[in-house]
Amino acid sequence: MKLLENKIALVTGATRGIGRGIAIKFAEHGCHVAFTYMSSESKAIELENELIQFGVKAKAYKADAADFSMAEKVIDEIVKEWGSVDILVNNAGITKDGLLMRMTEAQFDEVIRANLKSVFNYTKAAQKIMLKNRSGSIINISSVVGIKGNAGQSNYAASKAGIIGFTKSIALELGSRNIRCNAIAPGFIETEMTHALDQKVIDQWRQSIPLKRGGTPEDIANACLFLASDMSSYITGQCINVCGGMLT
Ligand code: NAP
Repeated sequence: MKLLENKIALVTGATRGIGRGIAIKFAEHGCHVAFTYMSSESKAIELENELIQFGVKAKAYKADAADFSMAEKVIDEIVKEWGSVDILVNNAGITKDGLLMRMTEAQFDEVIRANLKSVFNYTKAAQKIMLKNRSGSIINISSVVGIKGNAGQSNYAASKAGIIGFTKSIALELGSRNIRCNAIAPGFIETEMTHALDQKVIDQWRQSIPLKRGGTPEDIANACLFLASDMSSYITGQCINVCGGMLT
């Protein structure tokens, strides 16, 4: 059964990892998918072609998620060309790790802008059409690190905790208009972001997880599919941990 037949979604940061997994899962379920990326031009074209194979429309936008006016432009263009945005997945994110002692102001600001301000930018831009439609599902990708903290990631943890507060507030603001807003907190998901880590650290992570493996982009995409579809029509303001039991 296709759960998102003829819906229109925007996924930010979809050329790699989790975002790419979400875009493919949505297309498998009949959803037209627009997506953004920062610099991976050839991967964006590759993904567009892959999505079209599912018989849906696909379009890539090169757009820094931290750029407020660019977010408005992207949403306006999708609405102009495809008529709506029914589902927004705020996935784009970066890390610039370091202990506070060594963290620069630029490292802090960059992560907050890319991870948290981006969520404000796209949610604000998308709410106009969702309010008009009296319908919408917004899914924000947070992290378990935003719930429990992590040494060496104070900037990242602050951005991800901020996303949860933002999500809950938007759920309260827009619930009466049938617009739902939820967050997902992935645990250790094996993507390019985590492959930058030492192999020994990756093995230690796997061993410390109750399900004894890192997660896959598809694990997160399945949770997104649920939150995007009518299967979750009575769920808003929640943060779902998809972490193999890291948080209990
Ligand atoms: P990833 O493999 O590094 O991919 C990041 C994606 O975001 C890429 O498509 C990248 O585009 C795009 N991107 C980065 N900065 C952007 C910006 N300013 N504007 C637009 N696009 C931007 O990351 P991932 O592991 O899939 O993570 C995806 C999300 O899940 C992030 O929010 C991350 O914090 C969160 N998360 C990940 C894990 C994990 O274990 N992997 C755990 C918890 C939460 P380019 O290819 O063009 O650079």
